[in-house]
Amino acid sequence: MQQIIVIGGGLSGLATAYQIQQQAQAQNLAVNVKVLEKEARFGGKAWSRQESGYLCEWGPNGFLTNKPQTLELCQSLGISEQLLPSNDNARKRFVFSQGKLHKLPHNQIEFLTNSLISFKGKLRIAAEFFVPQRHASSDETLADFTRRRLGAEALNKLIAPMAGGIFAGDPEQMSLQACFPRIYQLEQEYGGLLKAMLRLTRQHHSDKKAGKVVASPAGPGGVLTSFSGGIQELISALSDAIGRANLIQTAAVSQISQLQNGQWQVTSGNEVYTADKIVCATPAFASAEMLQNLDADLANSLQQINYAPLLVVCLGYAQAQIEADLNGFGYLFARGEDEALLGTLWDSSIFAARAPEGKVLLRSMLGGASHPQVMNLDDQQIQQLVQKSLTTTLGIKATPELVQIYRHVQAIPAYGLGHKDLVAKIMARASQYSGLFITGNAYTGVGINDCVAAAVATAKQVLA
Ligand SMILES: Cc1cc2nc3c(=O)[nH]c(=O)nc-3n(C[C@H](O)[C@H](O)[C@H](O)COP(=O)(O)OP(=O)(O)OC[C@H]3O[C@@H](n4cnc5c(N)ncnc54)[C@H](O)[C@@H]3O)c2cc1C
Repeated sequence: MQQIIVIGGGLSGLATAYQIQQQAQAQNLAVNVKVLEKEARFGGKAWSRQESGYLCEWGPNGFLTNKPQTLELCQSLGISEQLLPSNDNARKRFVFSQGKLHKLPHNQIEFLTNSLISFKGKLRIAAEFFVPQRHASSDETLADFTRRRLGAEALNKLIAPMAGGIFAGDPEQMSLQACFPRIYQLEQEYGGLLKAMLRLTRQHHSDKKAGKVVASPAGPGGVLTSFSGGIQELISALSDAIGRANLIQTAAVSQISQLQNGQWQVTSGNEVYTADKIVCATPAFASAEMLQNLDADLANSLQQINYAPLLVVCLGYAQAQIEADLNGFGYLFARGEDEALLGTLWDSSIFAARAPEGKVLLRSMLGGASHPQVMNLDDQQIQQLVQKSLTTTLGIKATPELVQIYRHVQAIPAYGLGHKDLVAKIMARASQYSGLFITGNAYTGVGINDCVAAAVATAKQVLA
């Protein structure tokens, strides 16, 4: 029987272990998979916490259904019926700019009438049609790409907030090709974003006429989806399916080495585990440390992937204390609007039963690559900062009855310029060692769907 150890029990590690078991079973292969996790709990960034009747997400609050990976995983785990789609009004998203909230447009008419972008800014976006295609294959930052094609206002009010919301990233540092590969492809394939939209819309209409089942032309936005018990339900279902006996907690791995016979040794405290194959599903900096003695070059490349810090602040209020209309998803700040906050999600408007009857749950995000200094603040300073910001944006003056502050010192990997080349280098180097595999959110996507997709692909490689 093949012994396989997965290091790191976050979503990526658990999904990889589960996929190895599933794929091995389908191929009649005998494998034993163990997952070693540093903490006393599995799930990594995914952790739903019950706090005084509120359901607070420590990390992700859901996944989008525009990609199939997580939906398929849920089906395989038999938990599809437990899925909880976000409320319809969660499609309404806002950006805070120049003293007020602006609803993000959903279509061309809303774009023309919308108050977020100035008339000049709208003209500049429309002029994207005439911007020549960039043919160079070299990487470009998200900020340079946006300035070049859509103008500075679109960068500040549309793209920078989105980059903060997804990656907690700084668009001046982020790689377009690694962070938003589809946008890069649209320019390469169609010559520009508006040209792509027109061609895809035309294609969509003719496919529809021909009776084909089609998705929305701009690519389906998908529905943010979770579970009534929060994203934790996915972690629990994975843990149950893998078998609790195969999950080893408080097992921080310090070193990985390869024996003469090709087998692997994994050291955690006084324990040494032996395996035929190992998968590092830990953050890149953690994988670097454990691989340092085996291959300093590989470790050095892994160390080059930086992480943005993030504070998550959950606030509970009595509904009666809030006059603002919280009918929507929440808002992000336009660039330069707030010193520290990325935005605030209206969690109890997004999903049912996130707050007790008559209460409201808000979740603010602070920090990210642009404001790492917030990590130095103490809890009281953080609370003051968030409350002051909520007074400005939503007019909330009341004191919250619940405040929970979650600190992610290294929250989300930053895909900087040249990230794709760096990842290719890491994977090529790792593949020189038979039985060594690397996966996780540091390489090909940070979303839950991306982690699950990487897990499926890694499991295939492990069993190949
Ligand atoms: C605040 C926040 C909000 C987010 N929101 C969303 C969202 O709404 N939707 C979405 O799709 N994505 C979201 N994401 C991204 C997504 O949650 C993550 O990319 C994903 O959960 C990462 O999973 P992972 O297993 O790759 O990494 P992690 O969750 O970081 O797991 C790595 C695991 O390795 C363990 N480990 C570390 N060192 C060692 C060691 N030496 N030995 C053993 N184990 C070790 C860690 O303890 C951890 O459990 C969010 C992320 C954050 C931080």
